[in-house]
Amino acid sequence: MLAVTILGNNSALPMHERHPTAQVVTDGERLFLVDCGEGTQIQMIRYKIRRSRIGHIFISHLHGDHYYGLIGLLNSYNLTGRTEPIHLYAPPPLQAILDLQMAAAESRLCYPLVFHALGEDGILFEDTRITVRCFRVRHSIPCWGFLFREQPRPRKVRPEAASAAGVPSSFFPQLKAGEDFIDAQGRRIANEQLTAAPPVPKAYAYCADTSFHEPIAESVRGSDLIYHEATYLDDQWEKAHARHHSTALQAARIARLAGAGRLILGHFSNKYEALDDFREEAATEFPDVEVCREGVTYLVG
Ligand SMILES: [Zn+2]
Ligand SMILES: [Zn+2]
Repeated sequence: MLAVTILGNNSALPMHERHPTAQVVTDGERLFLVDCGEGTQIQMIRYKIRRSRIGHIFISHLHGDHYYGLIGLLNSYNLTGRTEPIHLYAPPPLQAILDLQMAAAESRLCYPLVFHALGEDGILFEDTRITVRCFRVRHSIPCWGFLFREQPRPRKVRPEAASAAGVPSSFFPQLKAGEDFIDAQGRRIANEQLTAAPPVPKAYAYCADTSFHEPIAESVRGSDLIYHEATYLDDQWEKAHARHHSTALQAARIARLAGAGRLILGHFSNKYEALDDFREEAATEFPDVEVCREGVTYLVG
C-alpha cells in the first residue's frame, strides 16, 4: 500500500507551525524521502518517522527550502553508525555542494552515499514492487518531479479452484503469470477460473515547484494521487507566473488534465495564514482536492 506523509507544506520563508518541503513516501516497511527542507529531522521525530528505514532520497531542485535539511540528515546517519547505503537522486551540482560541506568539516561518511544525477525524464529506481520516474517541471532553475508507481502484481491463485481442477503446485507460477491450464484430458481451463485479479497498481505523483506547465499532466497521467504546489491563490497569478510558481486553480487544472484520482496542495506562501481558500478555489476545477497538512498520511488510491 503506497502512502505519503507530509512533513512540510510551506514555501521558503519560515512560518510558525509550517515547514519547508519534505515528504515521506511509504511502501510497506520501506520509506522514500522526497525533498529535505530545513527542520525535516525534527519533523521526522515529531511524526515518528524512522529515518533508518530511508534508503532513497529524492531532491527536486536546489532552492534551499527543498534541501537545506539534507546535510544534517546525512550527518545524523554518520553519528548513528549507519552502514547501509543511501541512494541520493538529485540535480548534478548537489554532489559538489556535499563534497565541500564534508571536506570543510573533515567528515567521512561511514556508509556509502550513492549519488544519482537527475537528467532526462525516465526511470530512476525499479524493483519488483515499485518504479520511480523523474520528469521535468518548469521552474526558475532545473527542477524535477517524481512519479512513484507500483509494479503490476501477479494474479492470485485460488487454492480450492486449482485443487479441484487438479493443477499441480509446480504450475502455480504460470497461473500467477496468467496462463491457462491444460488438464490430463487435454481440456483447457481458463486462467480466470483458477485465479483472482490482483489489486490495480497505484501511482503517486510529486509535482515539485513549477509554474503552470501542461506537459506535467502527461507525465503524471492517471495517477491516483497528485501533490502539486500551489504557492498562491489565483488573484496572484501574475506574481505566481513571474516567480515560476502555480496557483491553486492551476494545480487543479493539471489534476483534471491528468485524469488524477485525488489532488493535494502544498508549498503555500507565508503571506497566507488560513488555507481553506486554496481548497475552495481548486475545487471549482477539480472537486477531489485537499490542502495537505503536516503530519497527515495520505493513502494513494
Ligand atoms: Zn520551494
Ligand atoms: Zn523552488
